[in-house]
Amino acid sequence: MDAALNPEARFAPAACARLVVKIGSSLLVDGAGQVRRDWLASVVADVAAARAAGQEIVIVSSGAIALGARRLGLEKGGRASLEDAQAAAAVGQVALSALWESLLGAAGLTCAQVLLTLGDLEDRRRYLNVAATLGRLLSLGAVPVLNEHDTVATSEIRFGDNDRLAARAAQAAGASGVLLLSDVDGLYTANPANDPQASRVPLVKALTPEIMAMASGASASGMGSGGMASKLLAAQIAGTAGIPLAISDGRALHPLKQFMGGGHGTVFLAPRGTRAKKAWLAGRMTVAGTLTIDAGAETALRRGASLLAAGVRGVEGRFKRGDVVALHGPDGNIGRGLAGYDADDARRIMGLRGEAQTAVLGHAPRAAMVHADHLVLT
Ligand code: GLU
Repeated sequence: MDAALNPEARFAPAACARLVVKIGSSLLVDGAGQVRRDWLASVVADVAAARAAGQEIVIVSSGAIALGARRLGLEKGGRASLEDAQAAAAVGQVALSALWESLLGAAGLTCAQVLLTLGDLEDRRRYLNVAATLGRLLSLGAVPVLNEHDTVATSEIRFGDNDRLAARAAQAAGASGVLLLSDVDGLYTANPANDPQASRVPLVKALTPEIMAMASGASASGMGSGGMASKLLAAQIAGTAGIPLAISDGRALHPLKQFMGGGHGTVFLAPRGTRAKKAWLAGRMTVAGTLTIDAGAETALRRGASLLAAGVRGVEGRFKRGDVVALHGPDGNIGRGLAGYDADDARRIMGLRGEAQTAVLGHAPRAAMVHADHLVLT
């Protein structure tokens, strides 16, 4: 099949050695809070077929909160408060893992549970550790089943939706595609619920402002926390790492097989991949501070130079060397990078050239405030 004619073919085993498949809560659990077991068994059959065809699969499974809420009798699907969601997730996650373990096991596959917090993927050392673990699990033939560790993640440090978790995990797993299975069949030009003229966009070549404006907020089912906006953010994170992402309606049986056979959806092509470390940096969601730089420094950065202390006009935040900081030029945010200095030292030497920095620091300064290898511009 020609991938140019059939964008879904990019996700098939022949073109995609390692695929991340995200399954939304509304697919796993029906309106009454019951697991859709037959449907799930059909997903597992598809996973087994993909593996037999040489494709490695990483599953990102939502549904812990929805399942736990039913068992605990919580209102609003367990999403009335953070405490409810965390309690529901604790109860639901065991049930969810048991389900995957039994269905994958019945298909002759080994299930591996991996629960992640945002911090696990935002901290470079922990990210590399997750990447190594996922790689090892896959090389051993296991099927990693991921979810956010909702029970311990608090509101400030949560992914909050598994769409972005899937994109970030795809980066960590070195995947070549992400498929978001949900109860919508793709991106529409406008919200189809309000606009009868709305049409599905089958292929997105670039995430332009017009495309970003097509997302209209919350999850349609009210069960998950995703919605189109989080799916577009996921496409952005995956795209930065050079990984194409697709959204597809997964409600019918055998959703993977159907999608790869040319099913309806929206495929987001990825621009040429950036270097792995830069992609990790660009996909991060939190920053520890801000460096404001002058116009001359911005021009130099855009030509590929490092950020020198002399070009820094302001330092905000309490960051440590190695933390991610936002970079602001005269017209606002221009990117981010890894700080070469702790915030206090950065404040002391900002605006100064080499020798003057030595006098302030009492030792020779480092080569740069942010090295060119450790920054990405937007
Ligand atoms: N981690 C949540 C759960 O397992 C789902 C997050 C989402 O809705 O994307 O219930």
